[in-house]
Amino acid sequence: MKRKVNLNEITAKEPLKVKTEIQPSVMNLPEEEISDSSPFKLEIEIQKKPAGYQVKGHISGNVELTCSRCLKKFTHHIEQDFEYKLLPTSEIAGGEIKGSDLDIKFSDETVLDLADVAEEQVILNLPVKPVCSEECKEVHYKEWTEDEEKEVDKRWEKLKELKNKLKKE
Ligand SMILES: [Zn+2]
Repeated sequence: MKRKVNLNEITAKEPLKVKTEIQPSVMNLPEEEISDSSPFKLEIEIQKKPAGYQVKGHISGNVELTCSRCLKKFTHHIEQDFEYKLLPTSEIAGGEIKGSDLDIKFSDETVLDLADVAEEQVILNLPVKPVCSEECKEVHYKEWTEDEEKEVDKRWEKLKELKNKLKKE
């Protein structure tokens, strides 16, 4: 399976197209969030531009996440198109970048590691608050116990005391 692309080999005439599979073992995924994952299918098209490259692609695969409500593990499917411009760092100072060009990456590397591309896309597509199912939101809504409430009240008291102290000083 192809993992690295030599950008210097891409001509302006023809974009480079790669269809590959990236094993999670070669990716640096956050273990505290992703407990397991399938290999990722990655399709990518890289086109040479007057400055840099236009990168377009699609990623799909499954990751195992932990539900932030019930703490159970569940499978989250990732299926995402992506597109960005890859520009040499010399372009940073060029002033050519317009407000609409939001998806720009700067790099002077001549080799693009597709494992890095896949890794980045997986991380970008992780839910901020993973929830195993819609129903989980309602059923497992955590209610505070009386003890916990008292604990919070105590903390507020302490904070008030501290504030009063500061005022006096
Ligand atoms: Zn859940």
